[in-house]
Amino acid sequence: MRFFLLVALAAVSVSATSVSAGFFDKMQNFANPDSKESKIFSGASQLLSSSQEIDYKTERYIGESLALEGLQRFGNPVKNESLQRYVNLVGTAVAGNSKRATIPYQFAVLDSPVQNAFAVPGGVIFISRALVSILDDEAELAAVLAHEVGHVSAKHALKSTQRAQFFQGVGTITAASLKGNKGKQFASAIGDMQMVLFDKGLDKTMEFEADLAAMETTYRTGYDPSAMIRVLEKLQKLEASSKDKKGSWFSTHPPLAERIARLKSQLRKYPDYAIMTSVQGRFGKNVKLNK
Ligand SMILES: [Zn+2]
Repeated sequence: MRFFLLVALAAVSVSATSVSAGFFDKMQNFANPDSKESKIFSGASQLLSSSQEIDYKTERYIGESLALEGLQRFGNPVKNESLQRYVNLVGTAVAGNSKRATIPYQFAVLDSPVQNAFAVPGGVIFISRALVSILDDEAELAAVLAHEVGHVSAKHALKSTQRAQFFQGVGTITAASLKGNKGKQFASAIGDMQMVLFDKGLDKTMEFEADLAAMETTYRTGYDPSAMIRVLEKLQKLEASSKDKKGSWFSTHPPLAERIARLKSQLRKYPDYAIMTSVQGRFGKNVKLNK
């Protein structure tokens, strides 16, 4: 069954890219405050309620606005269509086996020299060119993407803001009230999420949760679940020799030694992991980046 899923990957690739292309067009429009998309984004906040549960549409708009900030900080998508299509193929496969398989996910490789990956609410996931370039096979790529899918499916970014009470007491927002305090509060919630996602990092428990989700999801998709450990070990080596850790998976995530130890203790849940696939050939064919 698992191997069947890998074979079936080819079928989803076309739809994944077309959705992704549409999103990038739309992202350009977000930059323009008079665009339809920006207005929809302001309007989306009307959907917020005092229950603090936001619907998918709102979550997605919040996420796309954070995604734009991410592009500004880390760089635009790498102009390599076959690479982007391939990353979407692998990402869509793991997302389909995640705990939240029903929302649309988009993946993009950003032209950044810093090893990092991040996810915004709603399912947009970025991985840096530098992080892709240290990977050796498809299972490792799947593991990083599945870790980020884990953050999206557990709504970690949104939860960290709710915990900071940014959404509390917001009540029902109307377009008019957005101009006043509520609008400011909403904007500061976005600002808070930016800080969490790009500078401070999510809390440790959430990161460990995403690591475990990555292992489980890659395994369910048919990949060797120990790939996540291999990725972290590579980063650990790099960390030892790297002076500038700002903005990387080193600075926004818990200590790598702790993450590796936790994942190793979970490997016994997958006694057949050694015979699971890593798909080196296809990875090498599609990912040609300077190491
Ligand atoms: Zn993470």
